[in-house]
Amino acid sequence: MLARVEDVSKEYQLGDQPVTALHHVNLSIEQGVFMAIAGPSGSGKSTLLNLLGCIDTPTTGTVYLDGEPLSGKSADELARLRGRWIGFIFQTFNLLPVLSAAENVEYPLLQFVDMRGEERRRRVRHYLKLVGLAEFERHRPNQLSGGQRQRVAIARALAVRPKIILADEPTANLDHRTGSRILRLMRRINRSTGATFVFSTHDQRIIDLADRRVDLEDGRVVRLGVRSGHEWVYAAERAAAADRTGSAERAAAADRTGSAERAAG
Ligand code: ADP
Repeated sequence: MLARVEDVSKEYQLGDQPVTALHHVNLSIEQGVFMAIAGPSGSGKSTLLNLLGCIDTPTTGTVYLDGEPLSGKSADELARLRGRWIGFIFQTFNLLPVLSAAENVEYPLLQFVDMRGEERRRRVRHYLKLVGLAEFERHRPNQLSGGQRQRVAIARALAVRPKIILADEPTANLDHRTGSRILRLMRRINRSTGATFVFSTHDQRIIDLADRRVDLEDGRVVRLGVRSGHEWVYAAERAAAADRTGSAERAAAADRTGSAERAAG
């Protein structure tokens, strides 16, 4: 398993009020998935992405990346892992404005002190080509469109060859058509290279392209879905129904599972 989130809770202090952003979340992420973490604003999506991205640490529970627990690591160790294991794609692209497209892609490769300049430039060319920007390597971000900037950001994330790519609402600042193109590009790269993508989103188009979905509500996982053709197969429906006054159908489903379990146990 590429990543595991085990019984993770996250509490923030807002003044003297504790805010629980995640409640006992469990999640497994397999290598090569295209996963959407969906849910309304404030449901805990960014918090979960930050924990996976070694940006923040849980209050309780453990996050594992490639079998390695992230708990007990110093800020420096986490920063090192973050630089090598995680690729980030942001809604605001976050390119360095004074650097060209090629230099933006090259920048995170400078952390690999043993990597020769020739290999860095080879990777830069390779990934800029992969996102369709071979001819724009000398352009600065302000000479590129929003879609092109996000392509540079995708190339930058891939160039490190991270274990996992985390994308926080990557279509939020793109027009509809450009957003769709960028998503299809990421899906193609996911299929052709096996790179693992995890999105936080409420964009239905991302959910439609995804092969895994995690629905969050109030910091809880209410549904875990695995795609089967055009359909979603859900686990954890029951947790949702038990937790809330869900629809009659969901309650009935929970009841059936409950009686099946009682009969089995
Ligand atoms: P989403 O990404 O789904 O919008 P977040 O993970 O940003 O949700 O937030 C989940 C909850 O945690 C919200 O109630 C939010 O206000 C709270 N929260 C997030 N970050 C902080 C923080 N740094 N300090 C205090 N509260 C926070």
